[in-house]
Amino acid sequence: MSDTIWVEARRRLRSELLDKDYDTWIAPLRAARWSADTLTLEAPSGIARDWLRQHFLPAVERAVSEASGGRATVLLLVNRELSVPARAGALPARRAERATNGAPARYTFDNFVVGEANRVAYGAARAVVAQPGARFNPLFLCGGCGLGKTHLLSAVAAGLAHARPLGTVVCLTAENFVNEMIAALEARRMERFRRKFRGIQTLVVDDIQFLAEKRRSQEEFSHTFNALHESARQIVIASDRAPHDLPGIGEALRFRFASGLLAYVKPPDPALRPALVERKASALGVSLTPEVASYLAEEWCANVRELEGALTRVEAYASLSGRSVDLALVREALGPSPVARRGPTVQRIIGEVCQHYQVARDELSGPRRTARLAVPRHLAMYLCRQHTDVPLARIGAELGGRDHSTVVHALGAIERRLEKDATLREAVSLLRARLGA
Ligand code: ADP
Ligand code: MG
Repeated sequence: MSDTIWVEARRRLRSELLDKDYDTWIAPLRAARWSADTLTLEAPSGIARDWLRQHFLPAVERAVSEASGGRATVLLLVNRELSVPARAGALPARRAERATNGAPARYTFDNFVVGEANRVAYGAARAVVAQPGARFNPLFLCGGCGLGKTHLLSAVAAGLAHARPLGTVVCLTAENFVNEMIAALEARRMERFRRKFRGIQTLVVDDIQFLAEKRRSQEEFSHTFNALHESARQIVIASDRAPHDLPGIGEALRFRFASGLLAYVKPPDPALRPALVERKASALGVSLTPEVASYLAEEWCANVRELEGALTRVEAYASLSGRSVDLALVREALGPSPVARRGPTVQRIIGEVCQHYQVARDELSGPRRTARLAVPRHLAMYLCRQHTDVPLARIGAELGGRDHSTVVHALGAIERRLEKDATLREAVSLLRARLGA
């Protein structure tokens, strides 16, 4: 468990820190224990431990928190046994990880779960590997955080490096491009820098939004882009926004980005969610009851990183407490879900109101206007109004197909009634408590 979290945290640190810092300070560390949101790391010497504390602890804690999916603390201890052998052992492993130009070997097409939300992006990425430079050039992937962009980029880079061992594939973040450029400028080696990038077969650049407001880097990147594009060499880019929506990036470059295929990765759709839960749980060796699987799919799947973090915590909690993974354990391990923290949804409010008044959901959302349904329906409208940002017209549509003015009328009626009806007041506080609102 501690290893799983540390492998992921290290991956993040490697892309964040300078190579020499990573090699000197981070690579020699060993994960010893993970318990109660604390990762114990062992450093080879007191000097290393103190240096890490002074310079890298916040970065390490941030990476560990991201990797474990919740706030984590890092405890640094000294283990002198690590000093020589572990360092020697750490280096070859690192080279092996880098063999495909920085793409982690675990990001492959085979372990990418495909659904409506990412089908086009996935198909385009595969097409690029099959026929680089031919159809979709550049391929520009965009979408929010944790939705699989880096995963697909890495799969493309690894696929191309494997299929065409002779052509160079360079896969890097825009930040690393900028750092390399600055280093080249400082060392007066710009010619070499340009030759390197213009002589490659495929350029894969992650997080292109990092070029925002960096004019010199954009200019340099533009030249590289044009040189490669003109000779039909493949370019693949990922970004957190679409080209037309990238602030701080020059218009000409934005047009270039949009000149090939633009493919969105969207948040997992309802059919993709359970598939992701199943694949990610089995990759971690966790078996889930159907109830737990559907809870995770509904509440912990806004993005895949969130789901992975949740499953990692569930697995740790179960193995530390020696309990089996049921809904009670999952709720305890994870706390309120992001969905619950965002407040109740209209559907949850309707569900709770129906349960309280013992009416069927179809009845409450259906068009029938019987006296028995009036109070529950008005109360559901009232709670939706108070605890969601959903517009009145939609609240009305969900509750019997009423229009905006009918909802306004119902809200007034409930407010007047609340002043004199203690039972109704009680119902409201009970429902609020159940909804966590
Ligand atoms: P992004 O670059 O869009 O922020 P990543 O590619 O880093 O997201 O994905 C975050 C995590 O979620 C990674 O561990 C990745 O393997 C996983 N992931 C995202 N989408 C999928 C998917 N469709 N199938 C399998 N794993 C996925
Ligand atoms: Mg990414």
